[in-house]
Amino acid sequence: MFETRTAPEQTCFSGQDVSRFFHKMGMRVTQYGEAVLRERGSVVTNFDEELATLADEMCDTMRSHDGIGLAAQQVGRTMQICVVDLGQAARETGGARWDGRDVPPTILMPLVLVNPKIEVSAPDEIDFMEEGCLSFYKVRGDVPRPERIEVTYQDLQGIQHHLACEGLLSRCIQHEVDHLNGVLFIDRMDKQDFAKIRGKARRLKRRNQLVDPS
Ligand SMILES: [Zn+2]
Repeated sequence: MFETRTAPEQTCFSGQDVSRFFHKMGMRVTQYGEAVLRERGSVVTNFDEELATLADEMCDTMRSHDGIGLAAQQVGRTMQICVVDLGQAARETGGARWDGRDVPPTILMPLVLVNPKIEVSAPDEIDFMEEGCLSFYKVRGDVPRPERIEVTYQDLQGIQHHLACEGLLSRCIQHEVDHLNGVLFIDRMDKQDFAKIRGKARRLKRRNQLVDPS
């Protein structure tokens, strides 16, 4: 098995500045313990103005929280839609092949993925990287994931696309597509790494279950 451990300063899905965490513009971000985060999203069939507005609002919310990805469940919706914008980091992630053409990942941003389906290109090439999540206040940990994926998805017009990617873009898409299926990054951690954050996650869950508006 091929494994690398990436330097911890490489942040993943949420920014480091957590002090401003709860006071941002945009939609409310659901927190670990709220039931919606464990629900699978339904397939999107209406590619209408409402969907485009939702995608815009999700992008605004993601950016205002210094995130690089956000899934529908994180704004309280159970639909198969997520958004990704790596920002500056899009220059450093690996290459991307989009609809059969090699493209710089920067031109794909922001990436809106509707009804995405992931295929792992090389299941033996596993990479470890520290991840955070906008739904997990101050919880971060190393997560093993396949280095390269291929994803088929629809855009906001319902047009089907195929994207092959690696590195941070691959990781971010895997993290967000997991959300769409009710899977969270802590579920993917090794037992030992999970043990380090178990107490923090439990406290977070208890607190957020008490305030769950659903
Ligand atoms: Zn997340």
